[in-house]
Amino acid sequence: MKIMVYPGSFDPITLGHLDIIKRASKMADKVIVAIMHNPSKKCYFSLEERMEFIRKSVKDLDNVEVDFSDGLMVDYLKKVSATAAIRGLRAITDFEYELQWAAFNQNLDPDFEAVFLMANSEHSFLSSSIVREIGRMGGDIKKMVPQEIYEEIQNKLKDKV
Ligand code: ADP
Repeated sequence: MKIMVYPGSFDPITLGHLDIIKRASKMADKVIVAIMHNPSKKCYFSLEERMEFIRKSVKDLDNVEVDFSDGLMVDYLKKVSATAAIRGLRAITDFEYELQWAAFNQNLDPDFEAVFLMANSEHSFLSSSIVREIGRMGGDIKKMVPQEIYEEIQNKLKDKV
């Protein structure tokens, strides 16, 4: 069984992330969207909120699960017997970071494998931080996040200080 893990912060999940999840779900028997919880990285939304946003967004995708890990990603991949990690590439700037990330993980585990999917051109400038910024300033984020969670995210961004 081919299991692929899509790791990230998802703070919050965007349509760009969802596009990668849908495409990965056609290539694997099972896709696990895994929030990699890093206690030293401050996220805007809580772990529970981020997991709930992803759950609601993938509810119609039968072979997609949501999970989290606060350990090393390579350990998590082993634990769930994953074939590979999935990452999305938007621009040259992503490539630089992802290359370093892949090399670092390969160093930790020689068996580490990653699959990179090119971002859909529609989403190539979309990021969680842009969603947060626009939402906090009162802008409309409808075209940036999954429809199921749009209002919830919009309201939460307006309320939080
Ligand atoms: P991280 O904080 O680990 O970079 P993110 O949740 O921001 O986690 O992103 C997870 C993965 O999804 C990364 O590989 C990132 O490049 C990719 N990604 C983020 N936004 C998009 C997008 N709009 N289209 C395609 N891939 C994306």
